[in-house]
Amino acid sequence: MEREVWCEGCGVELQTEDPKRPGYVPPAALERENAICRRCFRIRHYNEVAKVEHDPDEYLSMLREIGDREALVVQVVDLFDFAGSWIPGIQRHIGGNPILILGNKLDLFPKSAKVGRLKEWVYRTAKELGVKPADVVLTSAVKGHRMDEVAEAIERCRRGRDVYVVGTANAGKSTLINRLLKEFGGGEEMITTSPYPGTTLDTIHIPLEDGREIIDMPGIVRKDRISEWVEPDELADVTPKDEIKPKVYQLNDGQTLFFGGLVRMDHVEGERQPFVCYMANSLYIHRTKLEKAEEIWQKHRGELLSPPKDPSSLPPLTRHSFHLKGKQKEDLVISGLGWIAAGKERSRVDLWVPEGITVEIRPSIL
Ligand code: GDP
Repeated sequence: MEREVWCEGCGVELQTEDPKRPGYVPPAALERENAICRRCFRIRHYNEVAKVEHDPDEYLSMLREIGDREALVVQVVDLFDFAGSWIPGIQRHIGGNPILILGNKLDLFPKSAKVGRLKEWVYRTAKELGVKPADVVLTSAVKGHRMDEVAEAIERCRRGRDVYVVGTANAGKSTLINRLLKEFGGGEEMITTSPYPGTTLDTIHIPLEDGREIIDMPGIVRKDRISEWVEPDELADVTPKDEIKPKVYQLNDGQTLFFGGLVRMDHVEGERQPFVCYMANSLYIHRTKLEKAEEIWQKHRGELLSPPKDPSSLPPLTRHSFHLKGKQKEDLVISGLGWIAAGKERSRVDLWVPEGITVEIRPSIL
């Protein structure tokens, strides 16, 4: 580039070489008067906020910077993948600042799900993870559900402070911010000025009318959930898009379920009972006898049992044994895939998941 030109939107120096660096503008757009960088262009014209991911160490040091300020932290979590979308140790990193939790993707839950009960579960789980939330709002960014409640909670909890929005990649943070911008960006509401991005690659600053700002942090990637390992063209079979239609299997002991070629569940011992699977509707589930499971796995993985089409793209399976106590219904949760709600019988269940993927057991949430 021969001359130095600055973005009219955010003041960053414009450049035409590297789309990943701040200030990028396509060469043709640079010829225009009042040129703006691509990021400003997208925000102005599409209300679209760019997403940048980060390596964990850098991400944590960014979080620690929040700890040096007085701010409200808004943590966006994916209700469908709560454990997998939680930022580990968040309270420790951000100091004494309050956290407002936005539980996103409520639209994936069956209509019969009780919002009050889900909210209580979010509170309880957050507490177990070391956070006493300033408030919890359940929402669906894609559908625009309860956006008034979200905006009201942010305004109430921030008490004149800046707002940092954090979340793991895919929790729906960008969708949520874009939705807020669309609904409140132009009017007299919470966000009054058109949003201009900051000049760093990491964060986007959206001014608020009292001189404070909303700071949109990049998402952090967690590799301990299955969805991160699936090839992009197979992700649709793993990531639910619409309301989940739970699939019920009555299993005797000695029976096995395969979830595509990703996970295997053996009902090893115990009474016949229902196993209700909450996963993407399009995920193929195959029932067989435990004694034949290994053979079927070896023979059909990558074909009948897929995704993945290429089994070598995932780490080898490891076994996690669970003893269901039979006192209450319990969920066996596989990060990035969903969960299986077992009935109320005492049982031993083995879950075979790719090494490094988080699994856990919790009292049933539905
Ligand atoms: P980010 O990485 O946290 O910024 O997440 P994105 O906003 O890019 O969203 C990740 C994926 O989740 C996209 O496929 C979105 O369409 C989807 N998504 C976001 N919000 C919702 C929601 O409320 N419901 C559902 N079903 N999907 C959502």
